[in-house]
Amino acid sequence: MQEERENLAARLLEEVDCGTVYLDAGGKVLFVNRRAEEILHVERAKVLGKRVDMLPLRTPIYRVLSENAQDEPVEVSIDGSVIQVRSSALGAAEGELFQLRDISSDKKEKRQREEFVAMMTHDLKSPLTVIMGYMQALMGEMPSKMDPSLHLFVKEMDKSAVKMLSMIDDVLDAYRLEAGLLQIDRQPCDARALLEGCCRDGEQEAAVHGSYFLSEICDGIPTLDLDEKQITRVFANLIGNAVKFTPRRGTISVTGTIEGGCLLVRVSDTGIGIPESELPRIFNKYFRASGAQGFKGTGLGLTISKAIVEAHGGSIRVESSAGKGSCFSVLLPLAKERCIFKS
Ligand code: ADP
Repeated sequence: MQEERENLAARLLEEVDCGTVYLDAGGKVLFVNRRAEEILHVERAKVLGKRVDMLPLRTPIYRVLSENAQDEPVEVSIDGSVIQVRSSALGAAEGELFQLRDISSDKKEKRQREEFVAMMTHDLKSPLTVIMGYMQALMGEMPSKMDPSLHLFVKEMDKSAVKMLSMIDDVLDAYRLEAGLLQIDRQPCDARALLEGCCRDGEQEAAVHGSYFLSEICDGIPTLDLDEKQITRVFANLIGNAVKFTPRRGTISVTGTIEGGCLLVRVSDTGIGIPESELPRIFNKYFRASGAQGFKGTGLGLTISKAIVEAHGGSIRVESSAGKGSCFSVLLPLAKERCIFKS
């Protein structure tokens, strides 16, 4: 009965579309299925019963079985294919099970999709920039040549075009981030002035939205090496989110203080908050919390903000409670050392 069951298990493993290799506790190859033979270009008769360290060096099977893929899957390139390797220990006295998947076509598809998105967004930017140029020209002419009843329409069109451009920039930057092309150009910068500028814009946004805005930026913030445009974008995004996700008559507050060699900026709100179960994914690409339905956005702002802050040696974190509000905190180093939140 036992033997029958073991035979059936071996036959089923033989059929699965995932390469499977089993090593005993002494590192001896005891099982290789058909798919593993294909992926590793090996005949099982030549390797069964051999210890991994007896296999010829540089062969795919030696390379794959020498990987430590227990904590996280590892990608190994074999003759132009990308093979994802996972391994799991089967108890101290037993052995190690390796699972191999050919992910080359998934990777190619993902790259093609991203290249398409990058190309589309880039191409969308050119006509939009032209529209915005004419919009600016129209606004310049407005006071003298345009009927006042049309002023509001032109301003609203301009505002929407600016928003659209910033969403396109986010999609492009998410692609650049993935491809390692997001550039940070740090120059000495008056961080207090930068924060005050962000707060002025935030105050206007909050006023239009019907919320209260408070800010308190301490004195004595030294000149910091920052990419001014990108750090402005981080705070504009955090403040913009705070305004967006806070119902009318709520409060948004921004504070800037010096704490232990770092500039600590907190952006808090009394808005819809984020459910605790969703907090771990909040900085993931395209992630939008369940409460964000009905609010415009791409789910990229926080991913990009985190990358920008970390490229400055800083860190970002969130505390939030659904229905009560959120607080995003950013630490930026005053000198060269990195700034990390002590949890
Ligand atoms: P977007 O705002 O474009 O959706 P972000 O990456 O900036 O993208 O934010 C990701 C998600 O995090 C939002 O969709 C929302 O669910 C949540 N979020 C961010 N900031 C807040 C906030 N202040 N209050 C509540 N939820 C927030």
